[in-house]
Amino acid sequence: MRPDLLDLTPARFAEAVEAAGGSREHARKLQRRLYSASGQQRAAGLGPLFALAAGVPRRVGAALAERWSTAAPEVVRRQESAVDEGTVKMVLRGHDGALFETVLFRNRKASGRWSLCVSTQAGCRMACPFCATGKAGLARNLSASEIAGQLLIAREQVPAGERIANVVAMGMGEPLDNLPATLDALEILASPDCLGVAADRIVVSTCGHVPGLEQLSAHPVPVGLAVSLHAATDALRNQLVPLNRRYPIARLLETLRRHPLRPGKWICFEYILLAGVNDADTDADALGPLLAGIRAVVQVIPYNAIVGAPYEAPSADRVREFAARVRASGVPVAIRASRGPDIDAACGQLAGGSQ
Ligand code: SAH
Repeated sequence: MRPDLLDLTPARFAEAVEAAGGSREHARKLQRRLYSASGQQRAAGLGPLFALAAGVPRRVGAALAERWSTAAPEVVRRQESAVDEGTVKMVLRGHDGALFETVLFRNRKASGRWSLCVSTQAGCRMACPFCATGKAGLARNLSASEIAGQLLIAREQVPAGERIANVVAMGMGEPLDNLPATLDALEILASPDCLGVAADRIVVSTCGHVPGLEQLSAHPVPVGLAVSLHAATDALRNQLVPLNRRYPIARLLETLRRHPLRPGKWICFEYILLAGVNDADTDADALGPLLAGIRAVVQVIPYNAIVGAPYEAPSADRVREFAARVRASGVPVAIRASRGPDIDAACGQLAGGSQ
């Protein structure tokens, strides 16, 4: 199989075009042509696609098309939420049969704008006991084109005149456990010659992969950061987020304190609420002091039920009380309304269609 052009960051795309006898300007035009094409146009092949690129000699497009290919993951299932208008989950299949999911949400506050939750791995090896993805283990890493390409597929679901303005890497997988492909995908998502999503509208969520965070901090695309905290003590976090045994809370927070946050930006700390496990008053009270010195916002996520996990969500009243106590402890707080529970599209429910 020829390598996939959609895997290339702009710099590497330019090198490929130079090798095909073209200039940097040709590269920009060809890359724009590739990313603005519909799925149907791409499926017709790179030759015909590049032949129509204005201002690029035909021989350059043809030479590029000879060396490279492009393949998008196939949509094997599409489900729309009945309880949550504007939530669409798609199960995708890679060339080798690996299954992964992408979830599209209509923004409730900004009309005509959509958010996309992308997967970075087929499965996950972090093994958090409350998460359906973790239960199945890791099938494989996704490539940059499979990660960023979820937007190419999803945007065909969005009505004309509307667009996907936000991308969160909060689907299946631990993005920082698949760092090279994730970083390339972030560049492709953010580049105006590719997918053109504003970098500060892209969020990467991690369960606390410290070496990955260090590399992300040094990466040129200034994306937003979310961290799945879920507990304020190592004893509890070791159980809920097994990676904590390798990178305990103090080490994680020290790394986050060094993360270059742009002015006006915050690190979002996700906190799943499991009744009787991590939702006591003392848990809430600990969060403010723990996160002192970090521009932090806590996002409380009431547990979404998954098959075979021994947890329950607290009552809505308890969720509000917990959030109020977190706020009183000194950190701003929001409650995340998970979308599309009827189609297993909510946080933690993505299992690649295997459930
Ligand atoms: N691996 C990354 C990306 C997953 S993001 C991370 O851990 O951050 C998905 C978010 O949903 C994480 O905060 C995750 O802990 C949370 N989550 C997982 N299972 C859940 C469930 N059953 N109910 C609610 N949230 C869940």
